[in-house]
Amino acid sequence: MITKRVILSAGHGKGSPGSYGQGKTEYSQTVDIVNRTAWYLKRDGQLPYVVVPPELDVAHAIAWVNARYKRINDGIAVEVHKNDFSNSSANGLETWYGDPGTTSQVIATKLHKKLIEITKLRDRGIKTYKNAPQGGLVWISQTNTWALLPEMGFMDSDTMNNDLYAKALFEGILNMWGLKPRVVKPPVPLKPLKPPVDPCIKTTKELAKVTGLLYDANSNIMKLNAVILKKDLEIERMVLAMGDLQGDLRVCRNKKDVFAESLEKYRGEVVLEPPTGFWAKLRWLLGKGG
Ligand SMILES: [Zn+2]
Repeated sequence: MITKRVILSAGHGKGSPGSYGQGKTEYSQTVDIVNRTAWYLKRDGQLPYVVVPPELDVAHAIAWVNARYKRINDGIAVEVHKNDFSNSSANGLETWYGDPGTTSQVIATKLHKKLIEITKLRDRGIKTYKNAPQGGLVWISQTNTWALLPEMGFMDSDTMNNDLYAKALFEGILNMWGLKPRVVKPPVPLKPLKPPVDPCIKTTKELAKVTGLLYDANSNIMKLNAVILKKDLEIERMVLAMGDLQGDLRVCRNKKDVFAESLEKYRGEVVLEPPTGFWAKLRWLLGKGG
């Protein structure tokens, strides 16, 4: 049984950024993919993981892992890389593993299946490190634990969809232990706040209630406006009251212009100075003293 532990490593290091494409280094992309994968693993919470310090080059990364994990079943070490070919139309995803016919091939198959399924990149298959260029891959041959090396897309032609790659890695890694991602509960939506009480006066009925005038007024504000234009002193008071309402009770926006227009028409005709304060002014307007 392989211990439930994934050792994540970003291919290349600070001093050896790997290949280059679309203005980006391979190193910058592998670090980003690993960070995102770690985030998925952390949120999921069912598989312990460690991340090799990304600044380490491959020799030091292997030494870091080997200093901590001695036996082959102490976990699975996955180092993320991206491919680079002189042929810029090259694309797809491949996973390097150890010896054919061993557990390495089994876990590589499980990882790779999810990588292809989720990224939908062209399937370049799983490949034994023995067939790798430059005489094999040290990450696979020298790491104490099981070690795999996915090449996630090509630097020249890739979409750099790192979050998707991370999700694929996350699910592929779980799949090596036969695990499935936990259902992550969506955040509970906040209870909608009660809308604030709207102090806006919406109907002439309400207006009438406040001012004590125009009891028979139609609720249509335009009609009220027309009534205002026909009357004299009482109307003048009404307009003043409405002017006050604008300031003190906030009149609905769509009706505000109507009030403003009425006020404009009566400006200059109001000779008496009303007292200050809304209710005092209202009493004055209604002729009830003040
Ligand atoms: Zn690389």
